Amino acid sequence: MTFGIRNIVGIHRLHTGQKNHLTPLVFKTYGQWSYWQKKAFDYLIWCHLAHALDFSAALLCWFWIFPITFPEANEWHIKWVSRVFLYNLAWEFMAYSFWHWMTYARASPYPQGPLHEKKFNPINQYEEKNQHHLLREITFTTLGWLQSAFVQCVFMWLWASGRLPYYNDFWSRPFFSIFILLGVTFWREFHFYWIHRFMHPWWSVQNGLRQGDIGAFLYRHVHSLHHKSRSPGPWSGLSMHPIEHFVYYTCAYFPLLFSCHPLHFLYAKFHADIAPIGGHDGYDDPAGGAGFHYLHHAFFECNYGVPLIDFDRLFGTYKEFVKKPSINDKQTN
Ligand SMILES: [Zn+2]
Ligand SMILES: [Zn+2]
Repeated sequence: MTFGIRNIVGIHRLHTGQKNHLTPLVFKTYGQWSYWQKKAFDYLIWCHLAHALDFSAALLCWFWIFPITFPEANEWHIKWVSRVFLYNLAWEFMAYSFWHWMTYARASPYPQGPLHEKKFNPINQYEEKNQHHLLREITFTTLGWLQSAFVQCVFMWLWASGRLPYYNDFWSRPFFSIFILLGVTFWREFHFYWIHRFMHPWWSVQNGLRQGDIGAFLYRHVHSLHHKSRSPGPWSGLSMHPIEHFVYYTCAYFPLLFSCHPLHFLYAKFHADIAPIGGHDGYDDPAGGAGFHYLHHAFFECNYGVPLIDFDRLFGTYKEFVKKPSINDKQTN
């Protein structure tokens, strides 16, 4: 899940000793709602609001970058291509560096303060002697962004040169446009579960690996690179083998199947680019709070998905994350 203003404010509140660091900024009574009220809110509203940063990157790209690149995109040219790449790399370094600064940087006050108590694994995986971990993660994350920027250029060229149908006026098909846009976050989770599950052993590993297990082969040669980040941080999320990047970003290839607005593609693409930051930061609330995926990195054969669409409960691979009691949490109760 992407980080957002709620996480920044929550971390700052925790750091400055305010007791309301876990209180939502807008829906303040959420904690007192019934189970079904919470579920309805999570599936109808929160699952979209939680990706406001990803959507902002897509929207800015549509309103700012498209007007200065798309008119020339019918032919490959360094000028418009470099603008697309620069925009993507700027988002990478802004979003990833900022969250790394908030949660790990020595120059930041937060990781040295009470936030440290929220860390799933108390050992700092980026201590000086382990800088190579960070370097590896930054390198492969950048390769991911370069690939997704290239995919964006290919789609822009396909649309602009008339090779692929699309529509330009979002509100010309209001219901369809909104339906696809709201569907992106669910599609991303569905897609992520299956491509991720595909790259872990297909059969139970309790009695050892089966001969010819394609998942085990893919894990060994491709996905294991992502799992080198056993205790993940913000830069771990997109730290993948380029083959995994290729499969991962196919979530944004749906314009090949039907005519849609470029914003639909951009939202899916930036969702895939940015959402892994909070989901891997290695901290409980008020930071990313992704204990579910942290357990996947710690124990491998569990929690393959993201719990909005609960395939793990369905297929028996769900592992419950038990929150450790914290002094700060006790103060808030
Ligand atoms: Zn995995
Ligand atoms: Zn991961």
